[in-house]
Amino acid sequence: MPNYEIKKEIRLIGTGASPGICIGKAYLVDKEGVDIVEKYFISRKNLDSEIKRFKVAVKIATDELRAIIENAPEDVRQHTGILETHVALLKDKMLYDKTIETIKNERVNAEWALKKVVSGIKTLFQDISDSYLKERSDDITHVSDRIMRFLIGTEKINIGEIDKRVILVAKDLSPADASQIQLDKVMGFLTDHGGRTSHTSIIARTLEVPAVLGLGNATQIINNDDGLIIDGTTGIVILHATDQTLSEYKELKARFEEHKAFLSRGCHLKAETLDGLSLQIMGNIELPEEVVSVLDHGGDGIGLYRTEFQYLARNEFPGEDELFDKYKDVVEVMSQRPVTIRTLDINGDKAVANSSGSDEANPALGLRAIRYCLKRPDIFRTQLRAILRAAAFGNVRILIPMISSLDEIRETKKLLNEAADSLEKEGKAYNKNIQFGIMIEVPSAVIMADVMAQETDFFSIGTNDLIQYTLAIDRGNREVANLYHPFHPAILRMIKHVTDVGKEKGIKVFMCGEMAGDPFNIPLLLGLGIDELSMNPQSIPAVKNMIRSLKVEDARHFINEALKQTTTMDVIKLVEASFGDMLGQT
Ligand code: PEP
Ligand code: MG
Repeated sequence: MPNYEIKKEIRLIGTGASPGICIGKAYLVDKEGVDIVEKYFISRKNLDSEIKRFKVAVKIATDELRAIIENAPEDVRQHTGILETHVALLKDKMLYDKTIETIKNERVNAEWALKKVVSGIKTLFQDISDSYLKERSDDITHVSDRIMRFLIGTEKINIGEIDKRVILVAKDLSPADASQIQLDKVMGFLTDHGGRTSHTSIIARTLEVPAVLGLGNATQIINNDDGLIIDGTTGIVILHATDQTLSEYKELKARFEEHKAFLSRGCHLKAETLDGLSLQIMGNIELPEEVVSVLDHGGDGIGLYRTEFQYLARNEFPGEDELFDKYKDVVEVMSQRPVTIRTLDINGDKAVANSSGSDEANPALGLRAIRYCLKRPDIFRTQLRAILRAAAFGNVRILIPMISSLDEIRETKKLLNEAADSLEKEGKAYNKNIQFGIMIEVPSAVIMADVMAQETDFFSIGTNDLIQYTLAIDRGNREVANLYHPFHPAILRMIKHVTDVGKEKGIKVFMCGEMAGDPFNIPLLLGLGIDELSMNPQSIPAVKNMIRSLKVEDARHFINEALKQTTTMDVIKLVEASFGDMLGQT
C-alpha cells in the first residue's frame, strides 16, 4: 500500500523576472491535449505494438519520477513521499493492468483506454465518503496525466485560448507565447528555463504580470490546479503554501500594490534631479496597444518600439499598409512626443515562423536583426517605407538593431533613401527628415563608436545584448544567469566610453536595455551621463521617483569611484553603501 502524506509547503527559487505577487492555481502549459483524447481502433496485428507503446510511456513516466526524487534538493527531498506514491500508482493493477486489458479487449488506442480506466477509478473514489481517500483521486489524475503526456507528446497549448484565471507553469515560454497572454486570464507565470533579460521576461514586465523564470525542474514538481504563490520580485515560488504563508503573502501583495499606487500618483511629475537636471523617461513597447500604458505610467515618449512582434506567431509577414497603420496609430497617440521605431530584430531568441534562420547552431550570433534585413531587402524595404510614411504624422526616430560595422549603417541608409525616393515617385505622404540612430549592443559598435557617431544622429545602448555579447553569456540561459550583471566593470567601462564619445561628437546617448529600468542602477546611469532612459512602462514611476531623490553632482563624483571597482560585487556593495537609504524607498 503506497505511503500517502499530506502535501507540505515547498519553496522553489528562480530568477525574479517581473515584480509583484500573485496567488492562484497552476496551469501546466506543456501538458496539452491530455484532456482532449481521440478514440481510434487498433487492428488485431497492431495490438501488441499499441500495448508496448503504453508500457514505454509508463516506463518513461516512472524513470522521470524516479529522477525527480533522486535529484530533489535536500529540503525538498523530505517531501517527495507523494512522488513515491505516484511511482507506485504507475504500476498499480487498477490502472496499469486495466488499461492493457482495455486496449486488448476493446481494440482501442492506448490514450483512450487510459482515459476510460481513469474515469472509472475516479467514479469509484467519488463514492467513497472518506475525504482523505477521496483526495487520492487527484493523485490518479496526476499520474495518468504524466503517462498521457508521453503518449501524445508535449505540444503546447494555445495560451491565447485559456479560459480560466490561472498561473501558467511551463518548461519554457517563447516570446511569442508570452505575447498571447490575456491579462484577465493569466495572473502570472513561471518557467523552468529563461533569465531576467530574455524577451519572455521583458514581456512579463510589460504586461505587469509577476513572473519567475529559470526554476530548473518546477514543471516536474508542480501539477495542474496546485495552489501557487509567485513572488516575481524575489524569485520565490511557493507550492502548497500553509495558511500562515498564505496570509503573509496576501499582506506582502497588498503592500506591493500600495507602494505601486504611491509611485504611480507621482508618475506624471518631471524626472528632475534635486539639482535641476531633467531627463526624458521613455517607454519600451512590443505591441502598438502598449502606448497607452506608457502614457499612463508617465512616459515622455517611446524610446524603443520593438516592431518584430508584429511578425511573430504568424505565417505571412505583414504588408506595408498594415505596418503603416500600426505605426501611425502609435505616432498619433503619442502626439508630438518622440516615437523611436526600431527596425526588425528577428531571430536570436525571437525566431519567426517563416525566417530561414531557425535552424542555426548559434542563433544569437547568426542571421539576426539588421543582418537579416540586409539579406532580405524586400522585407526590409516594406518596413522602411511604412516607417517613413508614419513619420509624416508625428515625431519619429528610426533605430537600427545589432549594428556591428559601419558598412551596415551605410547600406541601411542607402535602402532608406531608396524607400524615400520610391514614396516620392508614387506621390505618397512621407517624412525623411527623421533622426537616424543605432543600437549599441555589440562590442564592436562600442569600440567603433567614434566612427559610427559621424554617420548617426543618436546612440541607444541595448544593455541586454551588450552584456550577452561582451561577457559571452546567453541572456536566456539559467545556468549562467548568476554571471549576467550590468555592473560588471567591463560593462560600466563600455558605457562610459560610449557616453564620452557621444559628448565629444555631439550626439545624444540613450539607453533602452533593461538596465535602464531598475531604480538601483540610476545613480550609476546618471553619473555615466546617459541622456535619456527607456524602459518597460511599469518601471517608469519608480525610476522617475529615484531620479527626483538624487543630485546629478553626487552621481558624477560617485561614478569615478564606481569605475575604480574591479568586480561586480564591489560595484553592488558601493551602490548599496552610498545610496542604500534611497533605494529602500523605491
Ligand atoms: C537590448 O539588447 O538591450 C535591447 C533593448 O534590445 P532587445 O532586448 O530587444 O534585444
Ligand atoms: Mg538587443
